Amino acid sequence: METLNSPGIPAQQTPDTTPIERFVWDLTYACPLRCLHCLSESGRRPSSMLHRDDALKVADVIISAKPKRLSIGGGEPLLAPWWEKATRRLTAAGVPTTIFTSGWLMNEAIARRLSSSVTGVAVSVDGAGDEVHDLIRGRAGSFQKSMASLEHLNRKKQELRERGESCYRLGVEYTVTRSGWEGKERFVEEISTRFPEVDYITFGAVIPEGLAQEEKFASRELLSDEQLVELSESEADLASYARSHAHVSVTDARLFLPTSPLSVEGETIAHIEASGQLRAVTNYEAKVGSVLEEPLDVLWARALDWRNDPFVSQQRNSIRSLDDWARVTRLLDRRYGSAADKLRIARRSDAA
Ligand code: SF4
Repeated sequence: METLNSPGIPAQQTPDTTPIERFVWDLTYACPLRCLHCLSESGRRPSSMLHRDDALKVADVIISAKPKRLSIGGGEPLLAPWWEKATRRLTAAGVPTTIFTSGWLMNEAIARRLSSSVTGVAVSVDGAGDEVHDLIRGRAGSFQKSMASLEHLNRKKQELRERGESCYRLGVEYTVTRSGWEGKERFVEEISTRFPEVDYITFGAVIPEGLAQEEKFASRELLSDEQLVELSESEADLASYARSHAHVSVTDARLFLPTSPLSVEGETIAHIEASGQLRAVTNYEAKVGSVLEEPLDVLWARALDWRNDPFVSQQRNSIRSLDDWARVTRLLDRRYGSAADKLRIARRSDAA
């Protein structure tokens, strides 16, 4: 694997070098699926979901920071009873808001509610067919649910387009594992044929966070160095299989390595957990306090201090490959996670 030599993360991060540009907000850790690679271990931990009034306060904190965009996930965000109230408030305030869903809960009514409350909907699909997707997602029937979800979302978007009304950008996000390596070309062809309203299909290698950092998963499912290169070079070929206007892209995981010149973009993400705690960095369990209890600028300065810590910085700058990244995630999560995180991680390791 080619390595990227010029350090991407500023040596010392300050609010000037590293302003908040984007938020990730986990609405809940409840989830009907049990994905092997889940970054948040959702469905296997307390939901930590806020009550509506506190959730709306979090939305206000995000609005006040004027981010360029917001990604809403979890867990399954559609399980939060107040998701629509929160997303309406955010989009009305001009925050471009994309909701990430497995599609398990989707129906016509939810597609309609989404069409007037968010700017983007991304459905995760991790295999070209039932066998692989259901294996990775840990629940039989999940591939068919994701296809049914795309049916609803596609139909609603088509209806609104024909009436000249605006609607969400509709995307499909494919997380590439070794199991899900084959069939990507067929997948592009089928999705773009069956759901012509899909605006984009994105492929990205599974990254070693959450459950995907664990050795058993990492050794079986993280892409090899050669596959990472091959995937990053396959964009034009995959795009040639599109049968609609869908934009097909490949996210090069190497660009997220801390030594990549482009990794600074990831540093500008403020990641709010379901309880309202702000993560020090989106990739790791370390937290710096709750946005419901302290001003965001105070928490952000604390997050940057955590990143500037010599030990943390040395570890992160030692990453040159996905395997390195998995090793560093295991180390940092076990050292800096909360007491509850450490207990959860220890149980996870026992089971692995
Ligand atoms: S659907 Fe998403 S949140 Fe739920 S278990 Fe899978 S990866 Fe985790």
